[in-house]
Amino acid sequence: MLALRRWSVRRAHALWQFWRTLAGRAPRFAPLVHRVGRAPSESLLRPLERAAKGLFFDCRMCGQCVLSSTGMACPMNCPKRMRNGPCGGVREDGGCEVKPTMRCVWLEALDGQKAIASGGNDAAATRILPPLDHSRRESSTWLQAICDASSPGTPQERASSTQQGIHEPVATGDFEEACRSKRIVVTVEVAPPDSGDPAALVRRAAHFDGLVDAINITDGAGGNCHMSSAAAAAVLAANGRTPVCQVACRDRNRIAIQGDLLGAAALGVRNVLCLTGDDVSRGDHPQARPVFDLDAVSLLDIARNMSERGEFASGRRIEAMPRLFLGATANPFVPPYRDRVSNLEKKIDAGARFVQTQFCFDVAALADFMREVRARELHRRCTILVGVGTLASARALRWMAANVPGVHVPEPLLHRIEGAADQKTEARRICLETIEAVLDIDGVRGVHLMGHRNEEVLAGIIVASGLRERSPARAASLKPA
Ligand code: SF4
Repeated sequence: MLALRRWSVRRAHALWQFWRTLAGRAPRFAPLVHRVGRAPSESLLRPLERAAKGLFFDCRMCGQCVLSSTGMACPMNCPKRMRNGPCGGVREDGGCEVKPTMRCVWLEALDGQKAIASGGNDAAATRILPPLDHSRRESSTWLQAICDASSPGTPQERASSTQQGIHEPVATGDFEEACRSKRIVVTVEVAPPDSGDPAALVRRAAHFDGLVDAINITDGAGGNCHMSSAAAAAVLAANGRTPVCQVACRDRNRIAIQGDLLGAAALGVRNVLCLTGDDVSRGDHPQARPVFDLDAVSLLDIARNMSERGEFASGRRIEAMPRLFLGATANPFVPPYRDRVSNLEKKIDAGARFVQTQFCFDVAALADFMREVRARELHRRCTILVGVGTLASARALRWMAANVPGVHVPEPLLHRIEGAADQKTEARRICLETIEAVLDIDGVRGVHLMGHRNEEVLAGIIVASGLRERSPARAASLKPA
């Protein structure tokens, strides 16, 4: 089956032309469908469609086929059901984060899109695809295409036309102002506690008083259970800090996520980082069911519509729209390297105004990525913060590279730490050098520090790098934990 799927992608151009021809003839079948009736036509076409597309594309009959936009690679075969590009966990050899023996579906899709585009065709590769409509599962897309042919615009075109009427966003708070300013922006990541008591969280966040512009609160990072990110972000907001609430698509469907966004906004949380999320298999609940009702791009699109149009994904009005400042992640360090910028562009088109990258241990790879970002002027449309951090030893770093999806650590860097008399000090020195190097790259606006429960070390790095000095006055103005 996998071999046939790859065969179809290799022949994407021919298959796409065949599809175009059939789509062009679809209106001719409309009178016949009208005469036979929709239900009997569905019973007739569905098994045919299932057999043909199942054979060539491993089709899952989602009822809203997008093969013509995804290079003839079915995104339903992606374990996270990504519909708008690859996740950040693609392995260095191109293997899937979740199923390492399978090549990432989106690498296949990009190959297919390029084959289609090589014939001078617009394969609509950059269009934002709406989230899956689960009510259409098991229905025939062929029949839908015949019925649509008599009405103007494809479903996707009609979906994208809903982008019209979005209001110009207004500033939502300190962090957005920092991003709009000319100064270097500094953010840090803090994991919420395994506790029903917020005191420990506030104590850990206090390490960064006066040192950062915002504190990211992770959302079940690595598939592990902690206090909810919306609640932890609200705790920080109530205690005078500026949180960025991370929202992952792994654990909740669109109803729950939109409810969380409204709830977080009601509690003073304005900054939201939209991400797809890691697979559950590496976390402490590997038996849990991953949801992935949305991907990061469709989540951004929905959150932007909530914030700027005052509408839920269903189109229902929101009484008082939440004012959100939306961000996304980027990973320039894993395949498909050249297409990662297109992926970033899609996220910006969907509403991302700030971007935080995966850990940067490879400045040269970042420089390549930023060259293309500048060529497309994307750095003018969002604030790009580069992920940095340090670990205690080369062994810990090796473990992270092997076990944390999307982290790439070059061998020379590992050897440098391994060869040092004091590995911890050397790793810290490398982190400081990296901060200096990435801030020298045109288009990089700041850094995002990460490290699990490593607050003291990260705060020390911010001070040692000269990015910020401790500000007792500001720290004193915050509420006590
Ligand atoms: S690597 Fe990510 S995007 Fe690619 S198939 Fe696997 S889960 Fe999907």
